[in-house]
Amino acid sequence: MNCASCPAPCCRNVLYLTPREFEQLRKKKPALKYTRIGDVTILTPCPFLVENRCAIYADRPLACVRYPLNVQYREKSVVIVLHFKCPPVPKLAGGDQMLAPVELERMGISQGEYRKMFVTNLILDAEIGRVWKNFTLKERNKMRIFEAKTKQPNPGADAVIAVMPLETYADLVQTVEDLLDADPGAPYESIAQKVQRKLLFEQ
Ligand code: SF4
Ligand code: SF4
Repeated sequence: MNCASCPAPCCRNVLYLTPREFEQLRKKKPALKYTRIGDVTILTPCPFLVENRCAIYADRPLACVRYPLNVQYREKSVVIVLHFKCPPVPKLAGGDQMLAPVELERMGISQGEYRKMFVTNLILDAEIGRVWKNFTLKERNKMRIFEAKTKQPNPGADAVIAVMPLETYADLVQTVEDLLDADPGAPYESIAQKVQRKLLFEQ
């Protein structure tokens, strides 16, 4: 993704950190201001945005690495989308219109980068799933209220990249959870390499 002249709207909303990301970022900025709900830490706005650039780019959190990719959960499927708030992503009129790979390239997203974004998204979902399981009812309600208050209007459809059965996606996330459980202290980079090997090259 070519971010060079972009005013970085992606960095001006709400940033959710997993517990280990929070520990890493607090080492960089001990006076970090944050909101905490259960094990989730929320930065709003992100204090690492300096003159429209990320001051910790090489160590940015998973949510930032996978951006503008996101997953929408449906009853029987998951839809992998790109946020159109990111300027290179085309605004679609509505509905589940699918982008061709050539359009990804036009946006500056290579197949390798897309794969990295997808794997990062799996790791993020696996981490969030683990945190979410430990949430109390009170924390869940607190999170819903927080999200309702901070949610930005979404005036259009995101760009659809792929649709897959919910079960297939859940299996992928479970594979990543198993890798994280097997080596809880492993850096995300090495987990990502294992996921890539397991999911994309050994099948
Ligand atoms: S950590 Fe960097 S990429 Fe992520 S929101 Fe903050 S400034 Fe943006
Ligand atoms: S919105 Fe898109 S192009 Fe702009 S800085 Fe963020 S990722 Fe880059």
